Amino acid sequence: MAVVGLLGIADDSGSSFQRGCAEAPPLIRQAFYSDSANTWSETGLDLGAADVFVDAGDVVTAAGEDSAPLIEAGVKRLLAQGLKPLCLGGDHAVIYPIVKALAAHNPDLNILHFDAHPDLYDHFEGNRRSHACPFARIMEAGLARRLVQIGIRTCNGHQREQAQRFGVEMVEMKDWEDGRVFRFDGPLYISFDMDCLDPAFAPGISHWEPGGFSTRQALRLIQQVQGTVIGADVVEFNPRVESRMTAMVAAKVMKELMARLLIDHHASR
Ligand code: MN
Ligand code: MN
Repeated sequence: MAVVGLLGIADDSGSSFQRGCAEAPPLIRQAFYSDSANTWSETGLDLGAADVFVDAGDVVTAAGEDSAPLIEAGVKRLLAQGLKPLCLGGDHAVIYPIVKALAAHNPDLNILHFDAHPDLYDHFEGNRRSHACPFARIMEAGLARRLVQIGIRTCNGHQREQAQRFGVEMVEMKDWEDGRVFRFDGPLYISFDMDCLDPAFAPGISHWEPGGFSTRQALRLIQQVQGTVIGADVVEFNPRVESRMTAMVAAKVMKELMARLLIDHHASR
């Protein structure tokens, strides 16, 4: 029986600056299967083996259609089959319906959020469903017990107030020290915005923000975080900005997240 349900979300309707993230999911899959590499995680698992994951395809929305109910239903379908969701965005707005579906089964959900941005705006240019807002919606709805944000290097006054209001644990990049290990009691969801990385490592993103994590720092955090990972996403890869190198980095992150889902699934049984 497969453990992970892979779900592409071809939606960038929440993007504020430039579109393109909707085109990411097939390119991440293609990089994962590329003959230039293999399907093993660094942690020693063959992710190409038959009992690892099922690919549920992509959630695709028509122009003007509300994507949120489709995303929520897609994740609920995976959960009903006993699968751990691993979602490929899409822009970061897709996380709200994902977490909504997961929180229904996990009232004590924790979130580890990799991002250059806190995404805590009450609204962005009048849009409460912008990719700059999803973590405000998640915290307002009480869907996460703990939200820990890392990689942050764009926090402004409004978002600092929002973080305080919601009790968000934000570790800003300026204060980062290697070797820090994060511990979570209970189920853990990992949300990975590709712009947490320095754009030197992954330029195919909509918002270049220098001074981020190296790919290695991010992989080590995924491999070493203490907790039971029950779901994850890789979002904000924008192939219209750069497609080849960033697809490979997104696939690498996806692989280590998938391995974590497998390892934690087997450890918790
Ligand atoms: Mn984000
Ligand atoms: Mn971001």
